[in-house]
This record gives sequence, structure tokens and C-alpha cells, in this order.
Amino acid sequence: PLSTADLIEEHRICVCVRKRPLNKKELTIRDLDVITIPSKDVVMVHEPKQKVDLTRYLENQTFRFDYAFDDSTTNEMVYRFTARPLVETIFERGMATCFAYGQTGSGKTHTMGGDFSGKNQDCSKGIYALAARDVFVMLKKPCYRKLELQVYATFFEIYSGKVFDLLNGKAKLRVLEDGKQQVQVVGLHERDVKCTEDVLKLIEVGNSCRTSGQTSANAHSSRSHAVFQIILRRKGKMHGKFSLIDLAGNERGADTSSADRQTRLEGAEINKSLLALKECIRALGRNKPHTPFRASKLTQVLRDSFIGENSRTCMIATISPGMTSCENTLNTLRYANRWA
Ligand code: ADP
Ligand code: MG
Repeated sequence: PLSTADLIEEHRICVCVRKRPLNKKELTIRDLDVITIPSKDVVMVHEPKQKVDLTRYLENQTFRFDYAFDDSTTNEMVYRFTARPLVETIFERGMATCFAYGQTGSGKTHTMGGDFSGKNQDCSKGIYALAARDVFVMLKKPCYRKLELQVYATFFEIYSGKVFDLLNGKAKLRVLEDGKQQVQVVGLHERDVKCTEDVLKLIEVGNSCRTSGQTSANAHSSRSHAVFQIILRRKGKMHGKFSLIDLAGNERGADTSSADRQTRLEGAEINKSLLALKECIRALGRNKPHTPFRASKLTQVLRDSFIGENSRTCMIATISPGMTSCENTLNTLRYANRWA
């Protein structure tokens, strides 16, 4: 039987999986789909349906989540079951957090930020934008309108344990913790936003800032965590905060054996932050003394979102369907499975 704590936790944490379609590159190399979503909460990893000369034997494995989305699911649909319920939380003076976790190329940025592939630069269908849209819809409700809430947005990146402001030319920022363990990112630009259009502009600015000067968009972004926040203030005081996070690629563990020192350090830092994140999410809202917030910059910066009484979080684990990715896919499913 479930204890009260389990029930609270169940309500506070939602863990989902999203499978993307095979992409052009995978189709070219004739990669095969090894992922099936037989029902709305089950993910199966299995041998490819086509008969092939298998170099590796894949045992059938089944994982259960709160929701499992197959490759025909739209961002809007994923949003409806994941981040949408958390919009209410920040209006009710709570803290909400939504993460995209997974291997590089599995669809984290597509899910959170929108479509930035090739010539497309459409951020209007990503979860950042959809959440912002609904924040402005909620603001108009009579019960919330009378609170006279103000909306602000921030967008920053955590790269190798350092924080950079994506709305201010990647300015490097310091993180300070006062005696009461209140964490502050000093000088982080909080932009005043009045409508969804304002937010879309900021996402574009932040995203181009994130990828500028990089030979390939993924080279850098796969090693950094991007944090987009929607903050509600009432008479200057924080009322609620929604943090939406496009995490660094979780395959970076392999980097710890790289010949390049910088790459090794980055890989180690990413591993550390993803492990700390798991622990902090587990401790959500319980204010446990041994929660390792300080173990990484990511969890330190998000500390207030984990300890509030009214805190809720959602994890979207993104997976690639191909056999060539199955090692990483299984790692992703196992990481996310701990909470399911
Ligand atoms: P990540 O941020 O995890 O590294 P991306 O979001 O950049 O991965 O996705 C890699 C590529 O796959 C992009 O070209 C993206 O447009 C495409 N893609 C990802 N998810 C989907 C999806 N659900 N449907 C269609 N294309 C997708
Ligand atoms: Mg990405």
C-alpha cells in the first residue's frame, strides 16, 4: 500500500517518455526502430520487427511511466499532459519545474524550445511558448486578474558549472547563497513580458545567443543546461515561478574517458549535475536535510523550486527510436524509471 508521502510524491512528480521518429540520417544508414509504445503509459524496447543479422541481442524490456508518447505525438499534446497542469501551480503561489532529459539528438530542444532545425526557426510550438501562452490566458481570469500579477522571463545557461545570461549577451553571472540558504543569480536579467509575442522574441534572442559562435548548434548545447523561467510577481514579490529546462545530453558519461581534459571535466560535471538532480527531485517538497542541492550549479540554482511546499515537477525523457541508440535509450529509461 502507498504511504501518504508516496501519494504526495506521486502527485508532485510526473515522469513521461517521448519517442521521436527515425530521422533522415538514421533512415540512410537503415537504422531500425526498436521502440514500441503499446499503450499510453508503456514503453517497450525490443528487437527490430524486420529480420536482420543482429550484431547484438536485444532482450525485450518494458518500462512504465505516467505517460508515454509515440512518434506521432505533437508538442501541443505532450505539453497538455506535462507542463500544462503546472501552469496552475504558479498561479497558486507554487513552484513548477519541467525538464527535458535525454541523449543529444533525441528531441529535448524540439520539445522545449520548438523547431530550430535547418532554416526553420519556429519557437511558437515549443513548451516554453505554449506555457507562456497559457500564463497570459490565466492572467485574464477574474480570480487572478484581481491579484494584479506581473510576468517576467529569464533565460540562462549552465555550462561547465558556470552561469551565463542568454538575454544579455552571455554575460557570466555569479551565484550567491546567503546565510538563509537563499540562492541568487546576481545580475540575471528578468525581462518584463506583456504577451506571448514578447516571450517568443526572448526565446529567439536567447536561443541564437546560445548557439552563436558554434560550428554546430548541438556541439555546444549538448553540453549545457538551458533554463527558461516564467516568473509571476505581485507588488514586486515572487508569487510563483515556472522553470523549463533543456538539460545537457545524458550520453556525456562517455566523455569521462576522453583524451581532452576540458571535455572530460565537462562530462564529469554533467554526470554530477544529473545525479544531483535525481536526488533533489526525489526529495521534492520534503526539505530533507541531506538533499545535495550544492552538488551542482544546476540544483543549487533550482533549490527554491524543490523545497517549496507547493512544488511540482515534470520530467520528459526523450528517446531516439533507433537500434544504434539503444544503449543510451536504455540509460534514459532507467534514469527516468526510478520515479515511475
Ligand atoms: P536534442 O535537443 O535532444 O539534442 P533536438 O531537439 O535538437 O535534440 O532534435 C534533433 C533533431 O530531431 C532535430 O532536427 C529535431 O527537429 C528532430 N526532432 C526531434 N524530435 C522530433 C519529433 N518529435 N518529431 C520530429 N522531429 C523531431
Ligand atoms: Mg538540444
